[in-house]
Amino acid sequence: MTQKRKITVAKGDGIGPEIMDATLSILEAAGAQLEYDFIEIGEKQYLNGYTSGISPEAWDTLRANKIFLKAPITTPQGKGYKSLNVTIRKSLGLFANVRPCKSHAPFIDSKHPLMDCVIVRENEEDLYAGIEHRQTTEVFQCLKLVSIPGTQKIIRYAFEYAKSFGRKKVTCMVKDNIMKLTDGLYSTVFREISQEYPGIESELKIIDIGSALLADHPEKFDVIVTLNLYGDIISDIAAQITGSVGLGGSSNIGTDFAMFEAVHGSAPDIAGQNMANPSGLLDAAFMMLLHLGQFEPAQKISNAWRKTIEEGIHTGDIYNKQTSSRKVGTKEFAQAVIDRLGQEPQSFSTLVLDKEAFKPIHIPEYQYQAQSKTLVGVDIFVDDPKLSADELGQKLSELASPDMRLKMITNRGVKVYPDGLPETFCTDHWRCRFVSAESGKDVNAMKEISREAVPGLMSRLLKNEVDVIKTENLYYFEGQLGFSLGQGE
Ligand code: NAD
Repeated sequence: MTQKRKITVAKGDGIGPEIMDATLSILEAAGAQLEYDFIEIGEKQYLNGYTSGISPEAWDTLRANKIFLKAPITTPQGKGYKSLNVTIRKSLGLFANVRPCKSHAPFIDSKHPLMDCVIVRENEEDLYAGIEHRQTTEVFQCLKLVSIPGTQKIIRYAFEYAKSFGRKKVTCMVKDNIMKLTDGLYSTVFREISQEYPGIESELKIIDIGSALLADHPEKFDVIVTLNLYGDIISDIAAQITGSVGLGGSSNIGTDFAMFEAVHGSAPDIAGQNMANPSGLLDAAFMMLLHLGQFEPAQKISNAWRKTIEEGIHTGDIYNKQTSSRKVGTKEFAQAVIDRLGQEPQSFSTLVLDKEAFKPIHIPEYQYQAQSKTLVGVDIFVDDPKLSADELGQKLSELASPDMRLKMITNRGVKVYPDGLPETFCTDHWRCRFVSAESGKDVNAMKEISREAVPGLMSRLLKNEVDVIKTENLYYFEGQLGFSLGQGE
């Protein structure tokens, strides 16, 4: 007999305990080789004073077992509470969020009966770094951070996932026509890594038209890989158009740790009433069994669930007179699945897992490769509500000399000096680009400046009452521009 694998389980809040009990009863009946360490997370722990909703002891359990099956939790209203999910994802390095979105038509209503795609969302970077600042009276900033190791890991994971699960195509969605450096890194890495997977079709799409196509023709997509924010949005769209957000599970995968949960929340409106659909959490548990290599119970559960659904045994959220035969509660639904373990669906296809194809996904360790960088200028951000673009431009040009020169000023990204348009609306937030006095117009051939040139310039500005709010150095990396150009530069 296989040794039982110990995992951490949290029953969560709201409908969490009901759907977790239902899921564990099915896992047990299907012969999953699991042992559980239960931890308490969520509302009670937030109110106990743990700002992330989890106690230090629960952390120890999570870290020891490495695999976490989590029911939804309720985040209390009010300031000062941190998202438990974000804390867990970041602390345990769960870089990939994987969400399969499949229709179960005709038994569960969907406008897109053929839809069967998987969203692979980067989980740790992008605008979700949560680094925000208010810089002037009028302007607020959120930093979008994208790294080479983070991008390589998620894109390689998407291709490896496609390989393991027999998927045919990977689509990368970005906005690299606007964010040429950050989203541009995604498209560059995607093009490079896709070369290593000649058996898998690859395509790049701009996120706006890509999302529109996903909402209209989801059956055209297979695996989609994208950045954190876009992935957050499109994975909810995709889950919703399968027919119900209540049916899907998701996994959060890291190098050593993994967390599995339903897509939906704690549904306090129906908690404690034996009404909740446990299918989302069961789907997460199914993904966990595959991750652990327990294929037999995984296959049994999937087939029994399909049989239950096609027989029309449905919880209230998916009940429909045309396609349902019986409306059941959470417990009765779980029992119906248990009663069908070992049976095969008639209308849905039977799931047969190819154990050989499921090689554990291994992402090679990232090797840091230093690139030479050359300092060629500095963007100095200035708070000024009074001066016009021309007045500020003239003042800063005088203060720049003798070693530096003011190349341009932009306001919210648009060039307003020199030769700005009077129609451009300006806020109190100015980005002022300084380069070496010897640099000409060619942005690819700017002269190097010394490190001391930047604090020297800053001190001249400060002495002349210029309100400097931040600086960004301008570098060439191996001769390539490490900064974007202003609109109109
Ligand atoms: P929700 O997903 O809990 O509920 C939205 C609607 O869907 C409700 O009408 C609910 O009754 C229904 N629903 C959800 N799951 C269902 C199921 N399994 N069976 C039948 N019906 C179901 O979203 P919400 O109401 O916006 O959030 C409630 C709480 O959940 C909030 O505190 C939120 O912060 C939290 N939440 C937690 C997670 C998580 O732990 N991963 C995710 C999302 C929301």
